[in-house]
Amino acid sequence: MKIEIIKADRLKPLPDSSSLGFGTIFTDHMFNMDYSPEKGWHNPRIEPYAPIIMDPATMVLHYGQAVFEGLKAYRTKKGSIQLFRPGENFKRLNRSCQLLCIPELDKYFLLDALKQLLAVEKNWVPSAPETSLYIRPTVIAMDPFLGVRASNEYRFYIILSPVGAYYAAGFNPVKILVTKEHVRAVRGGVGEAKTPGNYAASLYAGTSAHKLGYTQVLWLDGIEQKYIEEVGAMNIFFVIDDEIITPALNGSILHGITRDSVIALAREWRYKMSERRISIDEVMEAHDSGKLKEVFGSGTAAVISPVGELRYGDRLITVSGGQVGPMASKFFKALTDIQYGREKDTMGWIEEVNI
Ligand SMILES: *Cc1c(COP(=O)(O)O)cnc(C)c1O
Repeated sequence: MKIEIIKADRLKPLPDSSSLGFGTIFTDHMFNMDYSPEKGWHNPRIEPYAPIIMDPATMVLHYGQAVFEGLKAYRTKKGSIQLFRPGENFKRLNRSCQLLCIPELDKYFLLDALKQLLAVEKNWVPSAPETSLYIRPTVIAMDPFLGVRASNEYRFYIILSPVGAYYAAGFNPVKILVTKEHVRAVRGGVGEAKTPGNYAASLYAGTSAHKLGYTQVLWLDGIEQKYIEEVGAMNIFFVIDDEIITPALNGSILHGITRDSVIALAREWRYKMSERRISIDEVMEAHDSGKLKEVFGSGTAAVISPVGELRYGDRLITVSGGQVGPMASKFFKALTDIQYGREKDTMGWIEEVNI
């Protein structure tokens, strides 16, 4: 399929790359493509960034049939632009599509479309330290219809947003509340899918945690409320003695690409790396016996997010003395060095964009 390119008449002023926030500024162009049962995915085009006009009955607004992805384009010191494991994002997008009864997309075509969009928007990839161009591919159900069924028509689009470091406070440990009242997802549900409903469903617990002074919620499993799942919208790692542990993928945890990359690096470095069930009690006991060394989250937005404090019921524990631990630092540095091209990519994770 050939991608039509319609350039914007007037370009927005580029933001000052040293004072970027997260997710508030969008570039001049977007990629759009439509789906109908007769034509399949068709009419791929890069066109000026614009609102999507829709009927108030459009199904996505009522029944939440939608999926999305999140990845970044990085500016290297040489001035080139590169992506980190983008094929994994499009593979996961298709897995999310399956779970939400959305027709799958050709992941090779999507990667090509993304690269063409980035070539058009190359000036928007910022170069200040720790900045990047956040990429949000999205699919939404478009039938104007009230009634619960899968939509017939869909829109796929990609928008781009220049971003700074995720946490305004920088690479500092966050405070986490382990929630006993709420669950994020259950096995057999759509916890593995990056679908808007999961995030809407997390707001109540997140807001309650914020009111108590915590940055994020740590979710326990939806059945026994005993085993650790994720933290906020990140996967989570524990360092207990010399073992690095992350919850195994069990159907309700998101398959994080940063998670997968941390595991791969840990194995490359010959650390004892386990994907297994880990209960909140095991974490508390490890803390009490002095074996809990570090806790950190992993995700595209923040890369690695060290945890300095954990509250569980009436227990409050400090991790790594409330400081950034050596493992969190090591993974953060290794991953960002590859992403920004400061170190050679021996893992085969980087995809160059021709600009
Ligand atoms: C996106 C996301 C993650 C992290 O995935 P990455 O591919 O590492 O960015 C983890 N948990 C949830 C719930 C997410 O939405």
